[in-house]
Amino acid sequence: MYVMQTYARLPISFVRGEGVYLFDKEGNKYIDLVGGIAVNVLGYSDQDLINAICEQSQKLIHVSNLFENPWQEEVGRLLVERFWTKGRVFFCNSGTEANEAAIKLVRKYFRERGESRYRIITFYNSFHGRTYGSMSATAQEKVHKGFEPLLDGFDYAIYNNFDSVINLLNKATAGIMVEIIQGEGGVRVAHYEFLQKIQQLCKEEGLLLIVDEVQTGMGRTGSFFAYEHFDLKPDIVTLAKGLGGGFPIGALIAREKVAEAFSVGSHGSTFGGNPLACACAKVVINKVSTLLDHVKDTGAYFKKGLENLNRGKVRGMGLMLGLDLERDCGPIVKRALDLGLVINCTAGSVLRFVPPLIIQKEHIDRALFVLDKLV
Ligand SMILES: *Cc1c(COP(=O)(O)O)cnc(C)c1O
Repeated sequence: MYVMQTYARLPISFVRGEGVYLFDKEGNKYIDLVGGIAVNVLGYSDQDLINAICEQSQKLIHVSNLFENPWQEEVGRLLVERFWTKGRVFFCNSGTEANEAAIKLVRKYFRERGESRYRIITFYNSFHGRTYGSMSATAQEKVHKGFEPLLDGFDYAIYNNFDSVINLLNKATAGIMVEIIQGEGGVRVAHYEFLQKIQQLCKEEGLLLIVDEVQTGMGRTGSFFAYEHFDLKPDIVTLAKGLGGGFPIGALIAREKVAEAFSVGSHGSTFGGNPLACACAKVVINKVSTLLDHVKDTGAYFKKGLENLNRGKVRGMGLMLGLDLERDCGPIVKRALDLGLVINCTAGSVLRFVPPLIIQKEHIDRALFVLDKLV
């Protein structure tokens, strides 16, 4: 064994994928309702994505950020066109890096204004990543355990509890960082009123509103960004997971006035937004934008089907759904594999469904048929 034991891996080797199907080395076929954890938004073997990778890799895979990068400009434009206002994008390679960039940008923004604010309010059960900043932002004991002392500057409030936010507010508070749906936290959806109050508070107190859309973004909930359902105007949005359709790329989008706080040398990345990564993101952004109605439609169909199973609470939006069984769902994941279904258990008791966005109702019917036997 040469690889560190950081993952509890299931004993299956996938060797190939096609559409929403995965195939193991014995040739068994599985419907994939995990999609590489909300990553493979276009499913497997998407011809446009493959073509983009082939064509770009023949020309230029990587060029350093010391030189002009028209691929970043183009993907940046595509993202900002979907943002609620003018903005600028910083490219990195993952969700945790996007959130690190966000944390740094928040601090720099206030520093530039000569203010000493730096603290960010985040929420229990959130997940923002595994590096020190994002891990410290993540208010989950099991993520912190053994790594203390954490980075200073985070205060933890209770999700969907506005009073708990008010109680934490102080002179050093700089921003509020929130997921629209807590993915790793068990597919818990924010309340409309709660997010509106947070937005109002940010406005009144001059705080920055940071929305972590690493999991909820890229069409996952039926709108390009999940914040759109809640009439938010965030200052900063972070993306990764689905952005490259399986190729690693992350991004931070900031409202123009906020983005200005980063100057030459403030932040950087060797790989961030390289030509190959951007070629992937360009295809994915364009294709996902045509799938939004499909996501709403199939998502509603799937949700109804899960509710009809009548086995637990169903939560989520679009194709980000959870079935809370209120008991350990690990064993169910294993049995599902035997029946040709790839599912995921998060927060201990919640079956999480984040399939490729190209999933069709026939796949959902089959999945529901299997789930009905399983849970
Ligand atoms: C997965 C996830 C991250 C971390 O992304 P990585 O690419 O694993 O670093 C951050 N925030 C949210 C909401 C996520 O779901």
